[in-house]
Amino acid sequence: MASGQRNAILGIIALVAFGAAGFFFFRSSRPVVEISDEYQVYGQCLACQHEGDVPYPSDEIAPFECPSCSEMAVYPLFYCNACGKVGVPVLDRSNPDEPPRLPVVPIIPVCRACRSNSMMQYSPQIIPEAETAGRAPLPEWP
Ligand SMILES: [Zn+2]
Ligand SMILES: [Zn+2]
Repeated sequence: MASGQRNAILGIIALVAFGAAGFFFFRSSRPVVEISDEYQVYGQCLACQHEGDVPYPSDEIAPFECPSCSEMAVYPLFYCNACGKVGVPVLDRSNPDEPPRLPVVPIIPVCRACRSNSMMQYSPQIIPEAETAGRAPLPEWP
């Protein structure tokens, strides 16, 4: 076999292998995300104060990425049954390597205005803004 011919054959094999790899890569990289993998929360961004429904991956806990300023600074808003104020609860700052975290079960969210732990997640569709006692001060950021 002449060396030029062998190089041509090797070239074709390489092309086929590359094409197959690309094909499998394409197949495996097709999105497997389903609608149920993403939730929505009514929250506020501590960096830019943007407020609204924010989508987030179902396996993550706050903070989430802000659709307005792209900071990981969106926290769900809570309504306090004791004082009627709406706000981000007291955040867990125990890990200095992580952003402040929303307390997760079994830690109960605590109101920043009155320190009551009788809070529920807020949405203006469920509790009209006019029926609240206004806003609790937002936590400092970061
Ligand atoms: Zn923001
Ligand atoms: Zn309160």
